[in-house]
Amino acid sequence: MIALWLALQVEHYLTQDEALAIAVPGADRFVAAPITLTAEQGEAIRRRVRWAVPAEWTIYIGVRGDAVAGYAAITDVVGKYHPITFAVGVTTDAKVADVAVMTYREEIGSEVRERRYLDQFPGLGTDSRIQCTGARRDLNYISGATMSCEAIALGTRMVLHVIDEVFVRRPEAARAYLQEEPVRQSRMRMGAMLRIAAHGEGAKEAIDAAFEEVARIEKIITNYDPDSELSRLNAAAGDGPQEVSADLMAFLEAMRRWTDETDGAFDPTVGPVVRAWGFFDGNHRVPSDDELEALRKAVGRDRWNLERSAELAGGAALDPGAIGKGYAVDLAVAVLKARGITSALVDFGSTQYALGAPPGRDGWTIGVRDPFKEDGVVCTVTLRDAAFSTSGGYERCFEAGGKRYAHILDPRTLRPAEGTASASVCCADATAADALSTALYVLGPEAGCALAEKLKVETLLIDPEGRQTKTAGW
Ligand code: AMP
Ligand code: MG
Repeated sequence: MIALWLALQVEHYLTQDEALAIAVPGADRFVAAPITLTAEQGEAIRRRVRWAVPAEWTIYIGVRGDAVAGYAAITDVVGKYHPITFAVGVTTDAKVADVAVMTYREEIGSEVRERRYLDQFPGLGTDSRIQCTGARRDLNYISGATMSCEAIALGTRMVLHVIDEVFVRRPEAARAYLQEEPVRQSRMRMGAMLRIAAHGEGAKEAIDAAFEEVARIEKIITNYDPDSELSRLNAAAGDGPQEVSADLMAFLEAMRRWTDETDGAFDPTVGPVVRAWGFFDGNHRVPSDDELEALRKAVGRDRWNLERSAELAGGAALDPGAIGKGYAVDLAVAVLKARGITSALVDFGSTQYALGAPPGRDGWTIGVRDPFKEDGVVCTVTLRDAAFSTSGGYERCFEAGGKRYAHILDPRTLRPAEGTASASVCCADATAADALSTALYVLGPEAGCALAEKLKVETLLIDPEGRQTKTAGW
């Protein structure tokens, strides 16, 4: 009963993001900087605040574009019996920017969260007393909420002096945090989450441009939009040569190249077979032998021609699924590079590219997914100017009649490839990594490893029993 009564007293007014946005107006993102005060700093601040301050702080550096817009910290100070949680923002010239109350736990006095009290704080500096009781007070308290008012004043004093000490007096320390911490953004593209992290000046604008580039190519090469240029080409199968844009032609040439390099283990003409198994729309089923036999004539390298323009044989359809994300990653990387970015990670989930390395590091560390454990990793790889891709039987698979069917098809049998749980590839570009991880999955550990050695790429293949086969250089 008492616990319930106490629980009911807790009032949440603002989330952390909301409070930080109030505390540092104009910031478009925050970088969290964990700070431990030295004994001397703690003592110096204690004298200015007239109260002992904790040694551990998380200071949120508010950033707008590439510049520091201000700082904030979230603190808990006890009002009468319980802590009040609030955010305090501080400007780059050590003035209180604003105060925002997040959680209030006292029985009375919650008026402290109102603007009539908090509006007194913006503009107060390190030379202000920031006190609402006593003879030398410079704030008006709200009667009935005196202790809570004093708690907010004390917390504001603490945050102001801590931020002044660690960052306002040493802006280079804040800049060092910003350099260490990349700008990160994620958006849904091609039915998956695309995450881009980039360091350096102009990183945010470069990331925006990279997302736009991926959206642009997605419109052309997706087979999930019947109006995309690739879908229209597929729909014109059997109608003779078709004019295609330079963008689509470049993509088709990449598909053709990797079909040839893998001797058809990667083969985008499996499109109609992917649909027959229901891997395209999720209506999974096991097609009959006759059905697969009938589809056989739609599949193969000779079913499409790129000599002058693009031409597909009747019934043929190209599936971009095994190479499209890698292709898009390479285009995104080209945009980042063109904008002067030298350190970034473009992560499309199964396919990634590591551009340069984070400051002071050897490369970007990528976890190789455990095919038997969601969220598990079997090992990590550190990459610099290299691509990585994994194809896994755990994705989009289904069970029927006690048998598991995975979404990667062996173009020779038109059935899900067996003998591989996952195939990971490291190589120079993401298009190759994506196409090859699919192809090596189809080929299985022995033939897959042999092809990887021949193409001078690194691979780690895991079979359904968990046995690992790797190239010498993995
Ligand atoms: P990934 O996850 O990159 O290995 O791509 C797998 C997707 O590519 C599947 O969901 C199918 O749409 C398509 N696909 C399946 N088997 C093949 C294959 N042997 N060659 C090319 N694309 C394939
Ligand atoms: Mg692939």
